[in-house]
Amino acid sequence: MKRFDGKVVLITGGASGLGYASALQMAKEGAKLSLVDLNGDALEEAKSDILAEVPEAEIITITADVADEEAVKKYVDETVSKFQRIDGFFNNAGIEGKQNETENYGSDEFEKVVSINLNGVFYGMKYVLKIMKEQGHGSIVNTASVGGIRGVGNQSGYAASKHGVVGLTRNSGVEYGQYGISIKAIAPGAIMTPMVEGSLRQMGGDDWEAVGEEFVKSNPMQRFGKPEEIGYLVAFLLSDQAGFINGAVIPIDGGQSYKY
Ligand code: NAD
Repeated sequence: MKRFDGKVVLITGGASGLGYASALQMAKEGAKLSLVDLNGDALEEAKSDILAEVPEAEIITITADVADEEAVKKYVDETVSKFQRIDGFFNNAGIEGKQNETENYGSDEFEKVVSINLNGVFYGMKYVLKIMKEQGHGSIVNTASVGGIRGVGNQSGYAASKHGVVGLTRNSGVEYGQYGISIKAIAPGAIMTPMVEGSLRQMGGDDWEAVGEEFVKSNPMQRFGKPEEIGYLVAFLLSDQAGFINGAVIPIDGGQSYKY
């Protein structure tokens, strides 16, 4: 018997990076998947890549913008009408935004980053929690960041949104524990995904790999995290084994956030 046999897991940002790695891990462990992403082509590619490794996996894909409340309601409805329930929710889609110091941080950029990273996570919880409360069980993992528990710099929108995700997690965890629902957040450090490559390109242009090598020297483990390491953590946190972890924010950053 696998940990996710018979379980339904909904993942936003499922086409790439941390969402994809977590989807693959839980498919290997028996989960039925509903994958949501803004990028429909990447979503179809992700589905066929998972099926190449796990041919028996049951997967639906839904193209949606998590910043659009109606679209969020719809992806939740579609998931429930296909699979009748949602056992686990990885509320993960997000963007970094353009880096700049606060006085030069674009107000439009701020609004955009917050609308995806924070409003999107709130809408997701709002509609999924209704289903989980009716079921009397469920587990949610929200993706925060080291930038949600520490100051990083040049990331006003990202910092505000990810600190907000931590607040939403603690608040809703306190509200919904009584219904058998646990809600946690992960706070990843630098994990090598297309988003981090984009961030390094903002700092170093074509020299982004050299910038990356320099960047990770300050990490206690002196390396980037791997997406599959997030997959193992998210699978554990969404499994029944982690049912008593609630309201918690779990760093996965090689120790970066503990360093003085
Ligand atoms: P990624 O760019 O590889 O994947 C993000 C996915 O989200 C993409 O497929 C993208 O199309 C999708 N997406 C973006 N905006 C969307 C929207 N409005 N609606 C629906 N889907 C949307 O990035 P990643 O590194 O896997 O990041 C995933 C999450 O992890 C983000 O919330 C990010 O802030 C967070 N995070 C990443 C790192 C890291 O080092 N990679 C560190 C801390 C936090």
